[in-house]
Amino acid sequence: NVRVRFCPSPTGNPHVGLVRTALFNWAFARHTGGTMVFRIEDTDAARDSEESYNQLLDSLRWLGLDWDEGPEVGGPHAPYRQSQRMDLYKDVAQKLLDGGYAYYCYCSTEELDTRREAARAAGRPSGYDGHCRVLTAEQAEAYKAEGREPIVRFRMPDEPITFTDLVRGELTFTPENVPDYGIVRANGAPLYTLVNPVDDALMEITHVLRGEDLLSSTPRQIALYKALIELGIAKEIPSFGHLPYVMGEGNKKLSKRDPQSSLNLYRERGFLPEGLLNYLSLLGWSLAPDRDIFSLDEMVAAFDIADVNPNPARFDLKKAESINADHIRMLDPKTFVEACGPWLKAPGAPWAPEDFDQAAWEAIAPHAQTRLTVLSDITQNVDFLFLPEPVEDEASWTKAMKEGSDALLKTAREKLAAADWNAEALKAAVLAAGEEHGLKLGKAQAPVRVAVTGRTVGLPLFESLEVLGREKTLARVDRALE
Ligand code: GLU
Repeated sequence: NVRVRFCPSPTGNPHVGLVRTALFNWAFARHTGGTMVFRIEDTDAARDSEESYNQLLDSLRWLGLDWDEGPEVGGPHAPYRQSQRMDLYKDVAQKLLDGGYAYYCYCSTEELDTRREAARAAGRPSGYDGHCRVLTAEQAEAYKAEGREPIVRFRMPDEPITFTDLVRGELTFTPENVPDYGIVRANGAPLYTLVNPVDDALMEITHVLRGEDLLSSTPRQIALYKALIELGIAKEIPSFGHLPYVMGEGNKKLSKRDPQSSLNLYRERGFLPEGLLNYLSLLGWSLAPDRDIFSLDEMVAAFDIADVNPNPARFDLKKAESINADHIRMLDPKTFVEACGPWLKAPGAPWAPEDFDQAAWEAIAPHAQTRLTVLSDITQNVDFLFLPEPVEDEASWTKAMKEGSDALLKTAREKLAAADWNAEALKAAVLAAGEEHGLKLGKAQAPVRVAVTGRTVGLPLFESLEVLGREKTLARVDRALE
């Protein structure tokens, strides 16, 4: 039975790299009928925050990535917040010490730095040099007498560690590249290096899928796992798969500080969860060479870690938007109408709440649905319907109102006033007005559009006029002629 975990630290805002990791774990769990464990790695009191914790839960819920065990859901290995599991780690650390798998290290930071520099200068490996590996009882007593507070350090085996990465194939790490490492701070606080594999063991995780930045942790964790197995704490070493780096602007790794990486940004702009997840799935995976657009269900049905591409993936905002646009088009019309609600009815909408007209919105919605990239763009597309006056935009006026525009608008006004109020008849009216002035439809409709909507671009004009209605349309043309 497959058991995967998503185990973020609640620091800062959730970012897209994190979401990609959650998605791949989730898709793998759902594909295999396995279990998705959600664990919060909040052992760093200085950096973790409750706000970030709440955001993580809220984000996963918004995305629709559900978990089978974890916060608010519970499960056989509760609690799922590491801050509530401290006694467990203390206990394991003691067992590792007692079994000789770990030892107290009294080296001070300054001493470590000095020796590291010396090793570097001499061209030797610069990791921990094993200084405290075999202290006699007297040496340890002497250090204690000096008032030194030891950290707990894990003793790495002296032979190479080889494992088969699910994405990258067989990898080998030699001992000089993986020195003994700290697992408990001098103040007794357990480190990621301990708590992460200990919880993976206790929670019986079978597959660890995470970002490539954590690849160097894996040989350490495998060695620790072996110790845990000998101590009867772990059953089996999980399989590891490392997801490719995500590259941002200038071919640099997309970083948490990169504005493009903030999940909230996509949410605020009105990405659909399924659009964003579809795009993020392409960062290292694909359904088929010729298929960019698919549903989450299709991803789940097809997902296999063996198909993850180890090469760095490039984050491409334009592509993300275009995929989102496709997902917007695929919504059923009713769902689209509702999905835009938060932008149209929010207190922050640019019109007074009482000026919003649901019937007008529903009438124009189909024309917007085929054109939106992100839902937040809806307000500027329909504001002509709900604002008492069209938006004032100098640039649009200068662009559309040329010499002769007044004459054209006058003719158009007459013909519009006489027309049946439906898109087809309104188009015929403007076409006819244009003909009288020697203008093609495109040129003839530009001043009408700006007079009525304030903008040079927007939804199809004649459908817009139909929904806006005769009275308001003519009044706006009149005002433009004043
Ligand atoms: N809490 C770790 C992080 O957010 C988890 C790393 C892992 O998946 O092992 O980086």
